[in-house]
Amino acid sequence: MILEDTEIFKNQRNNLVIQLRKKGITDKNVLAAIEKVPRHNFMNHCYLEFAYYDHAYPIDEEQTISQPYTVAFQTQLIEVKKKEKVLEIGTGSGYQTAILVEMGARVYSVEHNETLHKKSKKLLSELGYNPLCFLGDGFYGLQKFSPYDKIIVTAAYHELPRELLKQLKIKGKMVMPVGNSNTQHMILVEKVAENEFVYTDHGSFYFVPLIKDC
Ligand code: SAH
Repeated sequence: MILEDTEIFKNQRNNLVIQLRKKGITDKNVLAAIEKVPRHNFMNHCYLEFAYYDHAYPIDEEQTISQPYTVAFQTQLIEVKKKEKVLEIGTGSGYQTAILVEMGARVYSVEHNETLHKKSKKLLSELGYNPLCFLGDGFYGLQKFSPYDKIIVTAAYHELPRELLKQLKIKGKMVMPVGNSNTQHMILVEKVAENEFVYTDHGSFYFVPLIKDC
């Protein structure tokens, strides 16, 4: 069931955008998407009043909806443009997926947890967002629709999965938190040639783990 988008929620979203700008988010398309996507629908109902706080919150199945700053930061790093093919690993609540669709990307999103996959797929469609959602192990990407202009991984692993790097277009960009459960770094990868990558580190973050062979 879709919740009403009240004036209170709209004001809170405007304030969230102001906060994100202060924290260094400059991409106008990212900020416009944050201002539009009704995050309250993606929250567990007991945290509804915090929908526009800049924090991560628990969702079902012991997973989390990412902090808006993190969503904005990852999205800004890969410079999403209209019509680009974007692969997302870890649909979770579907919030990050909605941001990408709102920005005009053609989104392919993979989630390995069946409950979350079904719930987010239904919610996204009820909200009028139509990404292609898949149930599966995103560690190996989604070869069938590759190559992708951009890849965004919203769970952490101790190294960059080779298969994902393969499925990236030349000149494509991928962002992913890399590290163990204590320290993770946001790594941006640019594929400059078939087997040539440029890596940059964009600071510490905390994510739930990417589960391999699930
Ligand atoms: N972007 C999401 C955050 C989800 S948390 C949001 O804003 O809500 C990370 C998600 O990755 C979880 O839902 C978890 O179930 C999923 N995940 C973990 N390992 C995975 C894998 N190998 N393949 C696909 N999804 C995976």
